[in-house]
Amino acid sequence: MIFEPGIIDEDLFRAVCAEYRLDPEGSASMLPYGDRGKVGWETRRLYFDLARGQDGLFNTEPALRQVADIRSALPVTRIFSFGKCNVSCPYCKRDCQFRDEDGNIIVATDVALRDLFALAEGAYARGETVRFSGGDPVVLPKQTLAIAAYMRRRYGAKVSIAHNGSGPAWVKKLAPDLASAAIDLKAVSEKMGHIMGVSAALGERIYRLSEETQAILSSAGVILDVRTPIFGDTSLEEMRQLAETVSKNNPRTTFWTWRLYKAVHGCDWVVPQKEIVFGMLDRVSAEFPHLWMGVRAKWEGGGMMYWLGGQRLTPMEMSYAEKRGSGNNIELLRAA
Ligand code: SF4
Repeated sequence: MIFEPGIIDEDLFRAVCAEYRLDPEGSASMLPYGDRGKVGWETRRLYFDLARGQDGLFNTEPALRQVADIRSALPVTRIFSFGKCNVSCPYCKRDCQFRDEDGNIIVATDVALRDLFALAEGAYARGETVRFSGGDPVVLPKQTLAIAAYMRRRYGAKVSIAHNGSGPAWVKKLAPDLASAAIDLKAVSEKMGHIMGVSAALGERIYRLSEETQAILSSAGVILDVRTPIFGDTSLEEMRQLAETVSKNNPRTTFWTWRLYKAVHGCDWVVPQKEIVFGMLDRVSAEFPHLWMGVRAKWEGGGMMYWLGGQRLTPMEMSYAEKRGSGNNIELLRAA
């Protein structure tokens, strides 16, 4: 079930479990990955990394790091995909395959807590960063804090999160152990409830919580990747409003990723046309010239397109095509 586990430090494992009031023999709900349905098989590369300079901060000029081989140049995160979430986005990832018609997760599986620590050990041994994802890791706060503490004490290693933005109190505790954080800002405040499958009032509250979460991470100097899904009806004016919020963060530690929605079975939301989105990116980038922005572009060899100061940038290397991982669907995008 677990991909290449490492050997855990039993004493330290038990110590952090005691500290976070976790049963060492307990388990956590996880999402298996891929055709073989195994936990811990998913990795993600941090594409924003090409826009960072030697000081680790985002460049102030529109320039990308030139590398011979993007695949080996980008940092790799090992995805810990927890099987629960605190909201119900109708388009939820992996084609909604892990939710039934009542919104219940249908393929999540319980994995021994001990095995998750072993998975973190294996990730570290391969030079990867542990990334807590989902579902959403905010629903398993003690488990994530315990694994992060274990990695710090055993290796001095930091971890990463991909989080919907609703948990600033949890993020504040985790921030000292974070190397980077992907935080959702899924829509303008008034559309947030619709996009996340919750009431309008809760959606507006989550918008403010995401702002608060971003501010905590920005103040802590954590590399922040704000993520916004783009649909066929997402307007330029909406993206300008969101840009006002994202640009409150430190531009040297902030990247803003626009994520092109792909068609999902059971959800009739409209797929965006990429040329229209690129035009919006040109304009918003020109209006917020200090904010790095980008869009995953699997049809490009480099896998990502970048914007700064109204300029489009693409990596030099064009031969790499990612084989695995969720995100944009190349066939749909070609058809768009
Ligand atoms: S926040 Fe993420 S994991 Fe949760 S329902 Fe939305 S898309 Fe799915």
